[in-house]
Amino acid sequence: MAENPTVLITGASSGIGATYADRFARRGHDLVLVARDKERMEALAARLHGETGVAIDILQADLTDARDLAVVETRLRDNRRIGVLVNNAGAALGGAFVAQAANDVGRLVALNTTAVARLASAVAPRFAEAGEGAIINISSVVGLAPEFGMSVYGATKAFVTFLSQGLSLELGPKGVYVQAVLPAATRTEIWERASIDVNTLPVVMEVGELVDAALVGFDRRESVTIPPLQDAGQWDAYQAARQAILPGLRQEHAAARYQAAL
Ligand code: NAP
Repeated sequence: MAENPTVLITGASSGIGATYADRFARRGHDLVLVARDKERMEALAARLHGETGVAIDILQADLTDARDLAVVETRLRDNRRIGVLVNNAGAALGGAFVAQAANDVGRLVALNTTAVARLASAVAPRFAEAGEGAIINISSVVGLAPEFGMSVYGATKAFVTFLSQGLSLELGPKGVYVQAVLPAATRTEIWERASIDVNTLPVVMEVGELVDAALVGFDRRESVTIPPLQDAGQWDAYQAARQAILPGLRQEHAAARYQAAL
């Protein structure tokens, strides 16, 4: 793999993905930008190439479309210069679950989970064989909080965090770095796209601050980076509480509270 590997970023036409493109270009990485809006990616690529000189390739793809997704998978599998995958493309879905159309739910799950898992699956064997490479998965703090009332979106993000933690355990020892990034509300177009007025939110983080913080976590090789979480010890305590449950799971018998009374 190249010393300064190419970075493939999904959802690179706006928001967090476009900001990752900016930051990685300034670090001297060539880029592959993936999203549906080709014109926006071309404009971003022209600006970043002009400012940094890096080579930028554009892959127009709807990641909910199996054929488009396969093209991106093939690129990840075959282009050995790609050493970082930023699994960022995603969407939100506003409103109550009972008001959400089944097709919208299906599309959200396809974009936020299936595409993320398939793209990681396409690149992980090559990275593992090379003993290097990095996968950044953009999750969300909503995946920690059913209380936030965004059940399907939160469930997709819980999937992304879990997948990242599992892949980190499996691939870390093989030299592959996997990072989950959990932003809270960040000023991007995702809100407007989900028919939510970002200005109704009490506070939001600016996207540059979010990505710069996430890259601090990347450089430290953190497996989970939560820029808005002020006390990192709370995450550690949460993980410790979760792990403490594991030895208490017994496969052979149901717990006493579920045994039928004799
Ligand atoms: P955004 O500005 O709306 O960006 C979403 C990106 O995903 C765009 O580049 C969009 O490009 C792309 N995309 C959407 N549907 C796609 C599809 N079907 N196929 C391919 N690309 C698609 O929102 P963002 O906030 O930067 O979102 C980036 C990630 O951050 C998402 O995974 C989101 O869940 C996560 N996140 C955001 C926040 C927040 O508050 N902003 C908080 C936590 C997590 P095209 O329209 O050109 O395809």
